[in-house]
This record gives sequence, structure tokens and C-alpha cells, in this order.
Amino acid sequence: MCPLCGSNKESYQHLFLKCSVIRPIWFGLNWGLHPDSLPIDSSLDLLNLVINPPICLGIDLNPKTLKAQTSIQIALTLENIWSVRNQRVHNNTKVNHLSIVKNLEGRILEHFHIIDPCILADSLSISPLCWSAPPSNVVKLNTDAALKDAESAALLWALELAKDNHFYAVVVESDAKVCIEALTVASSTTLWKIHSLVANINFLALEFSSCVFCWVGRDANGVAHALTKFASTQPAYFSCTSSNLPPSVREAWLRDLLALPS
Ligand SMILES: [Zn+2]
Repeated sequence: MCPLCGSNKESYQHLFLKCSVIRPIWFGLNWGLHPDSLPIDSSLDLLNLVINPPICLGIDLNPKTLKAQTSIQIALTLENIWSVRNQRVHNNTKVNHLSIVKNLEGRILEHFHIIDPCILADSLSISPLCWSAPPSNVVKLNTDAALKDAESAALLWALELAKDNHFYAVVVESDAKVCIEALTVASSTTLWKIHSLVANINFLALEFSSCVFCWVGRDANGVAHALTKFASTQPAYFSCTSSNLPPSVREAWLRDLLALPS
């Protein structure tokens, strides 16, 4: 029996495409894909759906990019549905569609950025509601600053730390929209105050095999935000590890951990 709806036999077709509990995930992503109309009967059909996704040519993207993006969307959605199912089976977790869809959108965008960093320009308005883990072999750095003018300095410092630690593929997240736009949207209107820092960040970014800058809302940057707030109350230099986090930071960290798919 399907562990999500409890009213149908569990099969690949039902669980991934037809179950009433997972259908809002497909619809929430808003791609115009109707999962119940896809001819899927076996795991091989699902694999084929990822490798040869149905794409609608004629929109403003080259077919190769469109195919790669559609494959990523479908693969991550199927993986997410499988994780939702397992969380229900093993932890009896309730399905929160809003959080699932927002989290999934964020992960899909991260993967898109890796194949084409320019995509961020169109997607800046979509921000995940909670922190999401980066793809494997990619390190994510979340930054924040107590002073508005220090946001781009924080981004530069994050990249310097990443370089010192020999991280080769990084995603750098910040809730400073102006800085992320300055780094990701080709524009001649970068604020003069951050112009040289942005140039330095772009220069340093060339040293990574993959370096993606993402704007996220404060909800998805909670640990960095809480750390910044705490650090600004300290009289001097302060550092911590996961075993001695200040209470407010620990709370934000646990919130992120709980929101992660298992
Ligand atoms: Zn079901």
C-alpha cells in the first residue's frame, strides 16, 4: 500500500507520478508537465524519462541546454519524492508541500547555475525558504555582515577561505541582493562603493573549477545571520565550532538540519 496516500497499491507509476500526495510537488514546480500523462510502468521507464525527457522546443533556449535542464528537474524531483516517501515510512514525517517545493526549486536552480551561471539573472526572484545542502563535491559558503557595506567584503573573504582550504567547486550564498546582482548580472550600474570588491571577487572566482553566487532570503541564510548578530555583540574576535555554538546560532543550525531531506 502507498505509504503517502494509504489508498492505492504502491508502484513506480503511482508513487512518482500519480499519488495525490506528491502531485502538488509536480504542480508546485509550475513547468506545465503533467506527470499522470507520462507512460511510465517500470523503473527503466523512469530512468528513460530522466535521460530522454519530453521537451517542448520553440522556447528561447537551445535544445541541448533545455534537455539538460529538464533532466536535472526531473531527476531532482524524483529523488525528492523518494526522500519524502522514505521520511514518511521511517520517521512518519508529515508532508509540507510549500517547504518541499521551495527547497526543490532552490536545489534545481543550484544545479542549473553549475551548468550555466547566467541563469541566476532570471531566477533572482525565486528564493528557497530554508537552507539546502549543495550537490556532492560542492562546498557551500553562506555569508552575512552586520554592516550593509561589509556584505561584499564578506563574500570576498568567503572565497579567500575557500581557496585556502582547496575547495574547487563552491556555491556562495548571501542575502545581500545588491552584491549578488553585481556579481551575476552583467551591469554597468554596480554601486561605486562595492565596485572594486566585486572586481576582486570576480577575479578570485576564476581560480575555482566552479564558483556560483546565489542570493537567498534571510530564512535560507539563518546560521550566517545568527552568527553575524552574535559576533557583533562580542568585544573582540570570536570563533566557534559545531560543538560550542552560541544558543541563537545553534537554534538556526538545528532548524536547517531539520529541514534537510534525509
Ligand atoms: Zn499514494
